[in-house]
Amino acid sequence: DRMISPIGSREEEFVDEHIRPRRLKDYIGQPVVREQMEIFIGAARARGDALDHTLIFGPPGLGKTTLSNIIAQEMGANLRQTSGPVLEKAGDLAALLTNLEPHDVLFIDEIHRLSPMVEEILYPAMEDFQLDIMIGEGPAARSIKLDLPPFTLVGATTRAGLLTSPLRDRFGIVQRLEFYSVEDLAYIVNRAAGILGVPMEAGGAHEIAKRSRGTPRIANRLLRRVRDYAQVKANGRVSPEIADRALDMLNVDDKGLDHMDRRLLLALLEKFDGGPVGVDSLAAAIGEERGTIEDVLEPYLIQQGFLMRTPRGRVATRHTWQYFGMVMPAAIQE
Ligand code: ADP
Repeated sequence: DRMISPIGSREEEFVDEHIRPRRLKDYIGQPVVREQMEIFIGAARARGDALDHTLIFGPPGLGKTTLSNIIAQEMGANLRQTSGPVLEKAGDLAALLTNLEPHDVLFIDEIHRLSPMVEEILYPAMEDFQLDIMIGEGPAARSIKLDLPPFTLVGATTRAGLLTSPLRDRFGIVQRLEFYSVEDLAYIVNRAAGILGVPMEAGGAHEIAKRSRGTPRIANRLLRRVRDYAQVKANGRVSPEIADRALDMLNVDDKGLDHMDRRLLLALLEKFDGGPVGVDSLAAAIGEERGTIEDVLEPYLIQQGFLMRTPRGRVATRHTWQYFGMVMPAAIQE
């Protein structure tokens, strides 16, 4: 129910299939990531090697899954997709690994949620393309070793710090995704509008981009809702005014903040005098999980200068007080 939740839904995945970029050249923004990946993929291909294992981290909706798809596509390889919590037993991972073909990409989303037992299997698989697994139980148990084809593990996680260091150390390539600029998001909205056949004015795309929390998934979602509005309330064309009215109706403000962001910031101001306050107290105050605050809400608020992470806890900025039209208490103004 959160219009600008960066987490995707099923309906969304379906529409996304059409607008998700397939090639590196259509991967908008993230210039550093794109340039590096171009080089690494080009070099691996020229040598006839599998690409090095790649870790992609960044908040939800910024393009981790998309990038892993593109890597497989550009390598001319298959993509196998799974996620940390789905791989419950060592055998689940072993089954996937033994079905890989040379240079295939195995994408593990939420890789920080792998169980320790599954993670153990992954180490020799990543390092030596060896599967080392116990079969049977008790005195009859024995360990078998299998050779695996050279493959690329692409792991995605919201924060690199969530990974154990032995796992992190086994990735040769580490890419960090940043929030997108308004220009890049406007470009993404225009491209998606073109694919979906939505008549879009430049100002309309800009308006949607501004309110998308720096996140392509949100930009694409807002585009679909604005399209509905334009269809019912106008002639289908997305002008800046129509986009503005639609987004107001959806309660997304022009800083891209929604009610959950505002609730977090207001609690920080009203209940904790702007902080510093520990993230657990903040989580309890708004009835939200700590992980959601850290992975979903905070990164954008910090990037936009509404929140600071200090050793003593979270602190509101001058900006935050202004945003709510409140006066920053003199005691914290120095
Ligand atoms: P994540 O895996 O990080 O949660 P996704 O890769 O699923 O995010 O991205 C969400 C959607 O946003 C994609 O389906 C795609 O349509 C769009 N998207 C993501 N990154 C880009 C990009 N760099 N350029 C264009 N569209 C993008």
